[in-house]
Amino acid sequence: MTPLGKKLRARIEADGPVSVAAWMEACLADPEHGYYRTRDPLGRAGDFTTAPEISQMFGELIGLWTAVVWHQMGAPAPCRLVELGPGRGTLMSDLLRAANGVPGFTDAVRVHMVETSPALRERQREALSAITPPVAWHDAFADVPEGPCIVIANEFLDALPFCQWVKTHSGWRERTVGWTGDGFDFMPGDPAPDGTVPDVYRDAAMDSIYETSAAVSAVSAQVAARIATGGGAALFIDYGYDRPGLGDTLQAISGHAYADPLATPGDADLTAHVDFKAVAQATTDAGAKAWGALPQGVFLENLGIGARASALLANADTRQSLDIATARRRLVDADAMGRLFKVLAMTQTNMPAPPAFEQVRF
Ligand code: SAH
Repeated sequence: MTPLGKKLRARIEADGPVSVAAWMEACLADPEHGYYRTRDPLGRAGDFTTAPEISQMFGELIGLWTAVVWHQMGAPAPCRLVELGPGRGTLMSDLLRAANGVPGFTDAVRVHMVETSPALRERQREALSAITPPVAWHDAFADVPEGPCIVIANEFLDALPFCQWVKTHSGWRERTVGWTGDGFDFMPGDPAPDGTVPDVYRDAAMDSIYETSAAVSAVSAQVAARIATGGGAALFIDYGYDRPGLGDTLQAISGHAYADPLATPGDADLTAHVDFKAVAQATTDAGAKAWGALPQGVFLENLGIGARASALLANADTRQSLDIATARRRLVDADAMGRLFKVLAMTQTNMPAPPAFEQVRF
């Protein structure tokens, strides 16, 4: 058993089963053994690959998005450029390089990286060692100084704790993780408080699962409130859905393959799909505007990934050309990341549609 498994077993034996949210929180963020506290999970040698690691085009297009949004905000200086969960710092590095051509942008921005992992902070420091704007690191978004801001978050929300609710013969109950004597297993816990599961699911089939995330809503509200008061915009990219439904999306990934979410606590990445309707709701409740969510493929096409790929292809050898074409397909195609991944933008209320969102509102 993993060291975190032993710790969780002792906790469950002393205090009873833990909620799925508490399980996720421990697996990902336990100060000693949490998945994100102990390693760099990205890339070929790690457990999973993300869009900015697939191609520089991803960060570059978001760089152009950021520069246009900065102009839409009235080109404030200074402007806080915040990234939540920046991984290896690749997106920020590609973003800053692409936006550097926009007069005034590089001088105006102050970069703020919100990252809890010491190992990834080190990777980010290396990735950003040659950039011009000052960079600061923070444990939480609340620690970023006030003022106009642009916030970017790719595959950040899915790493926050999610609650699951399970339909049983005695109504909807919180889904918990207990210890059976020879392993961890899911089991129903306390009844769901009234209003947790929408009424339309009252007669759902036995064992149906409904998911919520107080942590996702809280971060969304916090960023939206900052945008509403200080001005700014945000971009949240993640795999998720824009119409809530029933289903178990809790997923463990280890070595680029699906794993059992209860088998190796602390050693596998755990995620769930983001409910973008809830993110949009938290945004408008906090006084900002929500745009999207757009499928990632549409977002990148709208931003001109075709033209960007052509520009790169003009200077590429045969091998590089293949890589560029493959990367573009992975990012955009509906059967790759193009449809499952969604992009939601937040803006201050008096701003026009940000780039790529002209046709859509939540
Ligand atoms: N955005 C990057 C990395 C995604 S992985 C990319 O696209 O490649 C998730 C990232 O969120 C990691 O950097 C992880 O360390 C960070 N993270 C996870 N939980 C966090 C939390 N509660 N606060 C801040 N960062 C967190």
